[in-house]
Amino acid sequence: MMKFMKKIIQEQFDVLVIGGGPAGLMAAGRAAQKGARVALVEKNDRYGIKLLMTGNGRCNVTQDAGDMLEFVKVYKNGRFLLNAFNRMSPSNLRDFFRARGVETKVEKNGKVYPVSDQGKDVLDSLYQYCRKNMVTFFNTEEVIGVEFEEGDPSEMFAPRISRGKITKIITKKKEISAEKYILATGGKSYPHTGSTGKAFDWLSKLGHKIVEPQPSLVPIMIRQQAIKDAQGLSAHNVSATALQAGKKIITLSGDLMFAHYGLSGPLALNLSRDLRKKIEKGEIKLLLDLKPELTFEQVDEIIRNDFEKNGHKNLSNCLQDFASPKMLDLIFALSEIDTHKHASNLSKQDRLKIVSLFKKMEMTIEGLFGFEKAMVTSGGVSVKEIDSKTMQSKIAENLYFAGEIIDVDGPTGGYNLQVCWATGYVAGESAAAATS
Ligand SMILES: Cc1cc2nc3c(=O)[nH]c(=O)nc-3n(C[C@H](O)[C@H](O)[C@H](O)COP(=O)(O)OP(=O)(O)OC[C@H]3O[C@@H](n4cnc5c(N)ncnc54)[C@H](O)[C@@H]3O)c2cc1C
Repeated sequence: MMKFMKKIIQEQFDVLVIGGGPAGLMAAGRAAQKGARVALVEKNDRYGIKLLMTGNGRCNVTQDAGDMLEFVKVYKNGRFLLNAFNRMSPSNLRDFFRARGVETKVEKNGKVYPVSDQGKDVLDSLYQYCRKNMVTFFNTEEVIGVEFEEGDPSEMFAPRISRGKITKIITKKKEISAEKYILATGGKSYPHTGSTGKAFDWLSKLGHKIVEPQPSLVPIMIRQQAIKDAQGLSAHNVSATALQAGKKIITLSGDLMFAHYGLSGPLALNLSRDLRKKIEKGEIKLLLDLKPELTFEQVDEIIRNDFEKNGHKNLSNCLQDFASPKMLDLIFALSEIDTHKHASNLSKQDRLKIVSLFKKMEMTIEGLFGFEKAMVTSGGVSVKEIDSKTMQSKIAENLYFAGEIIDVDGPTGGYNLQVCWATGYVAGESAAAATS
């Protein structure tokens, strides 16, 4: 039987980037712009599949922020990001895209989008950045392993000295070698887009510490059927408090979407970041304040006035100016008050029940979704083993990291792509500078 040989790519590259997502494209483009001969290896037939899904196709590229010291505080391992963010800050990034024909705009809550509202424009400009700087593309090439050469054991104990270096990468069809390697294979979230987390296995074998990857920014499953029945309801600027054993554990505000399983939208996703660690410790209740800008008494007054004015109407026809029809359906369903009753026939107890539902709608968390629905992965390559100034591995001297593969993650709102751009830029630049 004929045995197929792997094609060995003879051409010598200075920098080989693995993973064609936002981090890998930025790293490849920057390394090539700095004069390195760069190859980019991607297992899909297309680049940036996940990037095209971001911001519902509009791509929330970054978050508008000025003071980087403050900005990094919202991230896990934020201090690690400071150097990179000072080199490629959100405003530098907007200049970067503007110089490549993609104007951006700032929307509510500091979210930055391309003016065209097309994530495709962001991807195209990155791809052109790489092409213009002569990056060689290998797509439909899944890297299945790396070859590693142990370093001199006598040097291993010195601080910051690596244990060895990578000599080549192996795909199903090829072996490709380079002087430097940048790993930008993402985390484990939305695995159908290509990020399956397999690189964590090779990295563990090299001796890298991998902080256990966990799904983050996931929707929340809620027990109560009435909440699920409210699917399609969106509630803006609400506040949520999570309680465990009667103690407040998290309070956050933002926009919420009700879905057939429970809650989604930025507020639910951001809550899930902190809930994951707590959920194993016992039942968690959520209290929603749907009118956080008003006190309990103010809400009561508004409702009392409305009931007085509309005394002859059914409850179902009251409060039309105060809340959306979908929100009222939910409130009335949870109140269990007969909505055919005239407002003038409602008791004070009935009214206060409705006020409480606006101010403290209680529900029970049933669970959190996993990697299939996680916008990001929390965990990954330990930041203790990466030089924050260069993104260079402290274990393999010719290896660099960029993007979600690193153990850093932020809330929704452009924070996670900002990590990809900044770490990709720094990794590309430092890998290129270190080539001989
Ligand atoms: C639905 C959704 C919406 C989002 N919206 C936003 C948003 O609006 N703003 C924001 O900031 N963040 C958003 N995010 C998060 C953001 O998309 C990710 O943080 C970002 O894509 C991570 O980029 P990355 O380059 O590190 O990894 P990825 O985008 O995951 O790219 C990794 C690439 O590596 C390739 N790869 C993996 N393994 C191999 C291998 N062995 N060989 C070759 N190639 C390999 C993959 O195929 C993939 O193309 C969203 C995420 C999702 C899922």
